[in-house]
Amino acid sequence: MAARLGVIVQKVYVENDISASAIAGSERQEFDEFMHDWQRGAFKVPLAYTTGRLTRDNIVAERVIAAARQTGISPYYVASPWCDLNTAAGRRMYRSLAVNDTGEAEDIQERVQRKKLEDAREGKAAGGPRTYGYGLVIGYDPVKKKDIRDPYQVIDEEVAVLQEGKRRTLAGDSQFTIVRDWNARGITTSKAGQKVKHKGNVTICDGRWDVGRLKRTLLNECYIIFDPTSHPTDCPCLQNPETGGTRIHHTERHRAKWPGLFTRAEHDSMATVFNGRNVYWSNVGQVKARTYLLSGIVECGGTWRNTEKKGSYCGGQMYGQGKVYDTKKGRVYQRRYACKKWDRDGSRLGCSTVFRIADAVEAYVTEQVLFRFDSPEVLRALTPADNEERMAQLVQDLAELQVRREQLAAEYARKEHDKDDYRVMMKAIKNDIEAAESEKKQLLSTKAKSLAVPTSGLREVWDTASIEWRASVVTLVVERVIIHPGRPVRKMWPNKNGWWFDPDLVEIVWLH
Ligand SMILES: [Zn+2]
Ligand SMILES: [Zn+2]
Repeated sequence: MAARLGVIVQKVYVENDISASAIAGSERQEFDEFMHDWQRGAFKVPLAYTTGRLTRDNIVAERVIAAARQTGISPYYVASPWCDLNTAAGRRMYRSLAVNDTGEAEDIQERVQRKKLEDAREGKAAGGPRTYGYGLVIGYDPVKKKDIRDPYQVIDEEVAVLQEGKRRTLAGDSQFTIVRDWNARGITTSKAGQKVKHKGNVTICDGRWDVGRLKRTLLNECYIIFDPTSHPTDCPCLQNPETGGTRIHHTERHRAKWPGLFTRAEHDSMATVFNGRNVYWSNVGQVKARTYLLSGIVECGGTWRNTEKKGSYCGGQMYGQGKVYDTKKGRVYQRRYACKKWDRDGSRLGCSTVFRIADAVEAYVTEQVLFRFDSPEVLRALTPADNEERMAQLVQDLAELQVRREQLAAEYARKEHDKDDYRVMMKAIKNDIEAAESEKKQLLSTKAKSLAVPTSGLREVWDTASIEWRASVVTLVVERVIIHPGRPVRKMWPNKNGWWFDPDLVEIVWLH
């Protein structure tokens, strides 16, 4: 094509077929780069395979038209007719092609979604990573260098592990006991040996179980033997064997082509057991409401007594962990901050030598925080400078800089500046914009802080405020709270109705 037109190819812009579609909502980065380069004159003649490659929706079509009118050159296509976008007739034809392209992209999308729904209603596997317990190896693919697995056939050893997990959970074994045992026995998850990407680093998954994974696995709905009660009788999924598991598709449930492993009753019992235990560690589950004021900022000041770390400072995070005591007055539940001994996968986490009554720690830290808010340093840090005027100026500066940036680009396109001058001027404008943006952000955050905390009367609102709000106020001034080991002196704090607690063993690291 390039040869036929007698032009030299400057750069090739590549886009993936379906996912690049504007309808799919993905960003067309290469396309934006292409448009940018075209408008700034990096090349003269745009080429594409079909109009569909350039325009999958009408908005994009209008952008192409605008660029063509600006540069005076319309794009050429290998498999679509050329339209002269500098004439009204050419634009009309181009727009009608674009409308067709849009329809086609929508068709593809619809077909894909329809196919997925059909597969679900037939109880077929969804693809993607295999589910633990299924995916018997039935061959080897020498091209992909991978085992060929059948998602509808069980792997007997893994099913035995799942059944053991169910049996032990319902018999009262904790998740922790089970995962430690499985890891010790070398039983691995379905991810073992796979490459895992995390923040750009690729590692091989060791397949160790942890508490979260055990629960997620055992409670996976796909293992439940499907109950067809009140399911549409004409649904194709009911032709699968009655022992079939459950295929999930958004809110729909269908009988799967793979065999189920647990009854609905077994599943529900396990869910009850697991969810009942979450109460023990207050940090389990992201959505659970905060019940410990200082979660996340309490540090263990203890010293390791064993393991190879013996004698070194712990510094581990302390978690909320309640405990039930038997006393003369009966059973008493006490909230505590504790240095946690075991991580979720059964490996050692902290020294586990320091525990402290949470009510006492929170009362002491709160008292200190309220006192701190009365100090002039904190007031200076948290009250707004008289910044309204500066803010107004910044907003105006920013608007002017944006306009200047666009003007400069237009001037450059008209060849009023050479490339080096343009680069230098653009860099200067960008620097000014960045500086203004960062000052604006700073002013905004100061303002937000001052709005969140009343400058007077904090004590009055404290007791009625939510725990979330109180926690956010604490973290405005406190970086960390370190709990040092040691027994309280034989004295109650703050008075004889208080706790066995020594405030000297609590160290607050202030931010302001
Ligand atoms: Zn169905
Ligand atoms: Zn510790």
